[in-house]
Amino acid sequence: MIDLSLARDLRRSITAGHPWVYDRSLRGGVALGAGQVVRLRDREGPLAIGFADPSSPIRVRVLSPDPGAEPDRDWAAGRAARAAALRRADPRLADTSALRLVHGEGDFMPGLVVDLYASTAVVVLDGAGATGFWTPRLDAVIGGLRAGGFAIDRVWQRQRGVSGRGRALAGGEPPAAIRVDEAGAAYEVDVRHGQKTGLFLDQRDNRRYVGELAAGRDVLNLFGYTGGFSLHAGLGGARRVVTVDSAAGAIAAAARNLELSGLDRSRHDLVVADAFDYLAAAGAAGRRFDIVVCDPPSFAPRADALPAARAAYRRLNGLALAVVAPGGLLLTASCSSHFGRADLAAAVAEAAQDHGRAVLVRAVRGAAGDHPVLPAFPEGDYLEFLDVAVD
Ligand code: SAH
Repeated sequence: MIDLSLARDLRRSITAGHPWVYDRSLRGGVALGAGQVVRLRDREGPLAIGFADPSSPIRVRVLSPDPGAEPDRDWAAGRAARAAALRRADPRLADTSALRLVHGEGDFMPGLVVDLYASTAVVVLDGAGATGFWTPRLDAVIGGLRAGGFAIDRVWQRQRGVSGRGRALAGGEPPAAIRVDEAGAAYEVDVRHGQKTGLFLDQRDNRRYVGELAAGRDVLNLFGYTGGFSLHAGLGGARRVVTVDSAAGAIAAAARNLELSGLDRSRHDLVVADAFDYLAAAGAAGRRFDIVVCDPPSFAPRADALPAARAAYRRLNGLALAVVAPGGLLLTASCSSHFGRADLAAAVAEAAQDHGRAVLVRAVRGAAGDHPVLPAFPEGDYLEFLDVAVD
């Protein structure tokens, strides 16, 4: 195993569980292979093992704070079994057949995501280092997940960021539609072309939360994708639900999911439109909703996009607030670790001022429990969801 020397004092941070070491924090001069296992050391001696990614500024991802650990296939299977056990033990996941089994860093398995849709596992590897390290251990990971109690009969590895591209690791190519259930809602999921791995699993608890608030209410679901929040609003007894998404394919899937979920189509409007345009027109027409859900794609995928992102979140939340009926709710989200809780709250405060509305935050929520976060790793805490009461 190659030893890498730290150029900065990261002992406390790494021991506390921060799993990323940037290139600038390492002494140079060592040629590294993608995914090669390395031992980190400083003046006091060895302190952790990780794998290298020579092509990324995140040069090492920590695998274990035990410098003597041997990250072999048994180790990988053990980590996976532990991740599976965490999900098995969570009663909130008992009524869903779509869940994240491995959440990368949050499960001490950096760079690796495994999502389960019925009995199909979808694997995504984040970067060359993760690919080099995990590829020879993937069947051990799947074995560990099976041992942990999940029946997996197909494994599809999806190429990150490229719709449709991937390879079957077991059980052949996945079908165009896999049926899954989520607390009474039913979806058809396309794991090859759908966004992320097919569904936004991280919002599951927030969808149920909206379901609990929706009885008798008029609901607007912006950036609705395949209907998630709308299905739960419908199941929760909403009076009317309008779903808006700019992707016609997503709206067509939402229509199928409404039907699969046994919902009354006459209470649901599905609209293919840009959310900003829809809001501007609805606001001007005097249309008001009791609950507005606003779950946009990230406007700040990178730190340098922050100034533009601040303006976009402010404008979007302002347009959304303008269509909330007095006494109603705005349920608004950010899915960028660069635009966190304080940023989103500030955007809502400014938007409320812009539109002369008084607002109160009633609840601050995050990703569902199958997306665990390391307490010493704020970068992993990427999803914010605010429940805002509007006067
Ligand atoms: N709330 C969803 C996930 C939303 S993902 C769920 O729980 O499943 C973001 C969605 O926003 C995508 O479906 C994308 O097609 C859509 N989108 C992106 N830009 C948009 C825009 N300007 N107007 C409307 N929809 C947009």
